[in-house]
Amino acid sequence: MTASPFDLSGKVAIITGGNGGIGLGMARGLARAGASVVIAGRNEAKSKSAAAEIEQLGVKALPLNVDVADKAAVIGMVDATLSAFGRLDILINNAGINIRNPADTLDLDDWHKVIDTNLTSAFLCAQAVYPTMKKAGGGKIINVGSMMSIFGAGFLPAYAASKGGIVQFTKAIASSWAQDNIQANAILPGWIDTELTRRGRVQIPTLHETVLARTPAKRWGNPDDLAGTAVFLSSPASDFLTGISIPVDGGYSAQG
Ligand code: NDP
Repeated sequence: MTASPFDLSGKVAIITGGNGGIGLGMARGLARAGASVVIAGRNEAKSKSAAAEIEQLGVKALPLNVDVADKAAVIGMVDATLSAFGRLDILINNAGINIRNPADTLDLDDWHKVIDTNLTSAFLCAQAVYPTMKKAGGGKIINVGSMMSIFGAGFLPAYAASKGGIVQFTKAIASSWAQDNIQANAILPGWIDTELTRRGRVQIPTLHETVLARTPAKRWGNPDDLAGTAVFLSSPASDFLTGISIPVDGGYSAQG
């Protein structure tokens, strides 16, 4: 019998921000498809607990303490992955933060914090994994955007800029690394119930109802809704697909 095109047995994935929310949902999906997972985050206790949960699925999981905006830490993350597993097949750039403030009052430090964490980190991580993937004959990079990769929102200037940048950065590395058999694509989640959006719902009391009214599926997504697309983009099933951004949003971006 031929292997499933979605099979990830024996593969190794780094998932930044894999210790909770969407990152953990994608980690569960990859683990169920057979991949071992490196959980990279700043909160050590959360990363350890996520790794323990992933190991229950029968694969190996390694929690690592990493600030993805720090170049030396990112290089250390790749080194630690190669020491532990001897290979690296998949990178998911998922770590992200949000600081809500309109452009007229947003502090420059806050602008840099969001851009560094959400966009510069994707560059640093992709650059750090490239030599290993090239040498191995291929790899998969998945960048996490947002509905703010497509739409704007007055209270999210830095976040929207970072997520718009993710789409264009994805196209750039997809173009330059296709000849190395490295595919780079983005996932654009719709409104997903996580710590990030729970904070948003506290700050913006109308957000919950607005999202429900605007989402054709009439529900918020949950982190496991992202697992299938993450597995697809990590697997041989997507070997001739590169440079695209897939909304996973219950139809949010489909309507005008
Ligand atoms: P969470 O707040 O639940 O998760 C964010 C993750 O990012 C955490 O695991 C956190 O780890 C990690 N992280 C943040 N900063 C750093 C850093 N400097 N270094 C390493 N890790 C870091 O949010 P979500 O799961 O909702 O968000 C995940 C991604 O999905 C983000 O990129 C977000 O922008 C995007 N997204 C979310 C949507 C939603 O509706 N929830 C919609 C569209 C996009 P730690 O706690 O250890 O720092």
